Amino acid sequence: MEMRIIADMMLGRLARWLRLYGYDTLYGIEEDDEILRTAGDESRILLSRDEELVKRARKLGIRAVLIGSNSLEGQIEELRREGFEFAELFPANARCPKCNGAIRPAEKAEVRGRVPESVYQKYSEFYVCTKCGQIYWPGRQWREILRIDRKIRQGDTGEMPKTERKTENKTLNRRAV
Ligand SMILES: [Zn+2]
Repeated sequence: MEMRIIADMMLGRLARWLRLYGYDTLYGIEEDDEILRTAGDESRILLSRDEELVKRARKLGIRAVLIGSNSLEGQIEELRREGFEFAELFPANARCPKCNGAIRPAEKAEVRGRVPESVYQKYSEFYVCTKCGQIYWPGRQWREILRIDRKIRQGDTGEMPKTERKTENKTLNRRAV
C-alpha cells in the first residue's frame, strides 16, 4: 500500500527526509483549509504539529498523525509506530527532496556541463529529478545522508549533535545528494 503524505509548514525537514525515503510528500501549502482539501482530494495522510488541524482532519475522515517530537529521529520513530516503514535509502528509490519529483538514473553524457567538471570527472553514477531537473550523484553529501539514514534506522531517537545537524542542512541546501 502506497502511503501518500501531506506535511504542514512546521515539518519541512521531515518532509525532505520522507521524500528521500521515497514517500510522495506534499509540503509548502500554508493555508489550513487548502491542506485539508488537498489531503481529502488526493487521499493523503496529514502530518501536523497542530492539534487543532489534526482534529479537523479526523472529523473530515482524513487520516492524520500528530507529530510531537522536535527531532528528526523522534519524528521518524513516531511515524514508525503509525506503520510507516523506513527501508535503507537508495537514490533510485528516493524522490527529489527539493520538489517531490521522481528521480531517474541519468547517463553520464547527459549531465556534462550541468555539474561541476571535477564532479563529472570523478563520478559515473548520476540521477536526475524528472520534475525540476536537479542532478544528484553519490558524493560526499549523499554519503552524509546515508550516515544519518543508518542512525535513523538503528532507532536512535536522541537529538543530533549540533555539528551533524549543520552538515545535514548544508547538504540539503546544496541539493547535491
Ligand atoms: Zn526535483
